Amino acid sequence: MRQIDHYLATGVAAGEAARTHKVWNPSTGEVQAEVALGDAALLERAVAKAKEVQPEWAATNPQRRARVMFEFKRLVEANKQELAELLSSEHGKVVDDAHGDVQRGLEVIEYACSIPQALKGEYTQGAGPGIDVYSMRQPLGIGAGITPFNFPAMIPMWMFGMAIAAGNAFILKPSERDPSVPIRLAQLFVEAGAPEGLLQVVNGDKEMVDAIIDHPDIPAISFVGSSDIAQYIYSHGTANGKRVQAFGGAKNHGIVMPDADLDQVVNDLAGAAFGSAGERCMALPVVVPVGEDTAKRLREKLIPAINALRVGVSNDPEAHYGPVVTPEHKQRIEQWIDTAEKEGAEVVIDGRGFTLQGHEKGFFVGPTLLDNVTTNMESYKEEIFGPVLQIVRAKDFEEAVKLPSEHQYGNGVAIFTRNGHAAREFAHRVNVGMVGINVPIPVPVSYHSFGGWKRSGFGDIDQYGQEGLRFWTKSKKVTQRWPDGTADADNKDAFVIPTMG
Ligand code: NAD
Repeated sequence: MRQIDHYLATGVAAGEAARTHKVWNPSTGEVQAEVALGDAALLERAVAKAKEVQPEWAATNPQRRARVMFEFKRLVEANKQELAELLSSEHGKVVDDAHGDVQRGLEVIEYACSIPQALKGEYTQGAGPGIDVYSMRQPLGIGAGITPFNFPAMIPMWMFGMAIAAGNAFILKPSERDPSVPIRLAQLFVEAGAPEGLLQVVNGDKEMVDAIIDHPDIPAISFVGSSDIAQYIYSHGTANGKRVQAFGGAKNHGIVMPDADLDQVVNDLAGAAFGSAGERCMALPVVVPVGEDTAKRLREKLIPAINALRVGVSNDPEAHYGPVVTPEHKQRIEQWIDTAEKEGAEVVIDGRGFTLQGHEKGFFVGPTLLDNVTTNMESYKEEIFGPVLQIVRAKDFEEAVKLPSEHQYGNGVAIFTRNGHAAREFAHRVNVGMVGINVPIPVPVSYHSFGGWKRSGFGDIDQYGQEGLRFWTKSKKVTQRWPDGTADADNKDAFVIPTMG
């Protein structure tokens, strides 16, 4: 059995792994490797090394730091096919989609290449008599990232790209379900010229996460994963005095107005609901046609489109999507379909019990369409995270704005319409963090920032872009005066709170 270890600086001992975790090949249903699960002692050694190298990195001028980012970008591009194949073999998403996973992470690395410009401070000359004020952003020290299984390249790069470019060292705790790509990225980062120890990968589960939350020398944690864990990490991390951003689950709605171009909508929906087997936090698992006529027309077009989807092994170039990540997850998705049926939803297309010929042990779930889903159903309230599209009918625009606004999650939402007024009104009023107008997956580009609301995001600073830089740095404000030596020793003004008069 292949063993996957941590990625630590040379000289940092990994120690004996008391516990390991299975890494599946979801297409074949076989265990392909075992990953070591680390503990607090291992984290301690990694942090000690990070503390040793971080001050020198922070003192390295930002142009030189950017050069490492440029070289890392080049190396990831040169190794993209290998990374995508590795990613796909552990996650199950098809190889083309795995390329997208790497690419969307790389775009944040591109942004991080602009660090000399992005980190420039502010300066006011003559804020008072002979007084100047300036501010600068300084790194926090050691940042930690805890990442989910569903984007094993993109989300680690979103985090460590920004944190390291800003002058921090970084400890990454990736998902134990697909750890190989994060490790490979860390190797490439050192190859790109980063000092060893600046980026280390510690594998593990709750035990390692708790060690990170409790470690006094880790002042900031970025988390992405499911909402209960996000809330746990946010509340415990902040109680320990740390800066925490924690992004959680989602249930994104796609509103279809009566005037929408339904052929385009169906094409967009098929990709957004079923791409990556629905295992995306920005997937569109709920579609809301506005008005009965829209619902009827949409359903007629959706059924053949969904029936035409090809489910295949992750390296099948013809497949629209591959298997889900683990046998437990397949079972959970099928249970949600059972629940929806019991709750009274109509199972229009049933993906339960799907098997792929020649790959009967793979974790495949067929595409599923549920109609007449209502807001009181548990299967509507909770995240399913599988290839399941739910139709929730709204009688009018007002109801369509209300549905995503009142849902416990508020990650993304999309509206499909030709009516600019309705789209503008929707974007302003909807209580959700990221909005798409005729764009099904509105993940903002790397020089903007990413973040959902409500139970999709705990904390108040988004990921990457300027917000990401704010998260990974603290601002220092300097007020300076260079007296000319003619001060009045008895100046009573010194006892009054200084004003700039
Ligand atoms: P998960 O919550 O199971 O795991 C995320 C991380 O938390 C992993 O590193 C895991 O090891 C760790 N973890 C798991 N259980 C833990 C526990 N009890 N205590 C402490 N740490 C624990 O999430 P997942 O299944 O890997 O990822 C899918 C979830 O992530 C979905 O809910 C999805 O919507 C969400 N997600 C959100 C975003 C976003 O930006 N909002 C992006 C991607 C994924």
